[in-house]
Amino acid sequence: MVSIQEAQSIIFENTRLLPSEDIPLLKGLGRVICEDVCAPWDFPAFDNSGMDGYAFCHSAMQGDRLEVAGFLPAGSVRNLPVEPGKAVRIMTGAPIPPGCDTVVPVERIEETDEGIRITEDIKTGSHVRKRGDDVRSGARVIAAGTVLRPQEIAMLASCGLTTARVFTRPKIGVLATGDELVEPGERLSPGKIINSNSSGIAAQVLEAGGEPMMLGIAHDEENATRTAILAGLEADILITTGGVSVGDRDRVRETIAALGGKIGFWKVNMKPGKPVAFAVLQGKPIFALPGNPVAAMVSFEMFVRPAILKMAGHTRIFRSAVRAELMESIKNSGDRPHLIRLFVDMRNGRYVASTTGSQGSARLSSLTEGNGLATIAPGASLSTGEKVEVFLFDRRFEMCSPGRREHFSGHDFYSSFHEKTSPEKLTR
Ligand code: AMP
Ligand code: MG
Repeated sequence: MVSIQEAQSIIFENTRLLPSEDIPLLKGLGRVICEDVCAPWDFPAFDNSGMDGYAFCHSAMQGDRLEVAGFLPAGSVRNLPVEPGKAVRIMTGAPIPPGCDTVVPVERIEETDEGIRITEDIKTGSHVRKRGDDVRSGARVIAAGTVLRPQEIAMLASCGLTTARVFTRPKIGVLATGDELVEPGERLSPGKIINSNSSGIAAQVLEAGGEPMMLGIAHDEENATRTAILAGLEADILITTGGVSVGDRDRVRETIAALGGKIGFWKVNMKPGKPVAFAVLQGKPIFALPGNPVAAMVSFEMFVRPAILKMAGHTRIFRSAVRAELMESIKNSGDRPHLIRLFVDMRNGRYVASTTGSQGSARLSSLTEGNGLATIAPGASLSTGEKVEVFLFDRRFEMCSPGRREHFSGHDFYSSFHEKTSPEKLTR
């Protein structure tokens, strides 16, 4: 049995960076760019007005009055110099005409019979956005390894680019195993259960930026398991759920080994998720996750997600954590580190956390009710008010789950939303 950290090290040693590809700019959102990008010209490319107003030469100014000698909208250019004592009406973004050094905003003038009068003190150079103020031509605007957010997409577009060179999205095979499983929507006969793992894991894959490849259900029998595993090697990573424990029909690990797979580890010192196995077969990492839904999703969170992020070029591969005050006492009387599911909220500027109830590894609601995970050491006993480090697995953690509406401070979003949009209201 290895520790969580040892397991992660073994995984990282056996995952490599994927190749790169050129993709349309918008498809690059959330992807990791694999090359530096430099500004092809100065940003802005020319001195231009930062306000709607009047451009004039401040240094040649006598008194506070100017004659208006023309109009300059954005997108137009005036090559004729503006004479001292005269001003040009200019719109935001228009190039500063020759002979001018300052813009007075329209809110700071008064119209007169002859032109305008400046009503407030204006410094030389005011409201002129100088060429190269933002970025100088040739300067690096985006470094290789950056995750593309909307602002980076805008920066790439500013460079005139229509595509970005990014690391490929990892393709992840998702295979469920178990004779008891039927797919959602199929008839449930006695003793059967719905394969919820494949959907949950595939959603986790999508959220991590991977591309799930659904491989269905394999029966607990060596031939079927072997065929399905071999089909899964088309992906960059294969995930299986179930059949990896010590049951008589748990075939996954022995099938991988029989196919020549190298087992990196089997069993991790954690709860839930202990029977998880990691192997490399034909150069492809295989994660054999436990069948219990919570164990499967928590072990994905601990092991598969960081691997997907690493393969896709990310350098920050772990969730961010907050230190939260416990709203209840917690005890781990077991002998393994316990990854408990918590609901974290903000109260009076402090993070607070409460457990999501019973922490059984088959209780999916212990995950739906939560937004974070904390590791409680074996034998640890924590009192109310003590602080724990919680890894937030919900990026929108500031939002409340419907079952936790009492934590929603301020007006009740849900009821006001339903009130506004209920069909009766709309047809009345
Ligand atoms: P196993 O690890 O195969 O012994 O499965 C452990 C438990 O998880 C059993 O109760 C299974 O019925 C359940 N289980 C296994 N696979 C799935 C799945 N794909 N979806 C939901 N539950 C599952
Ligand atoms: Mg099974």
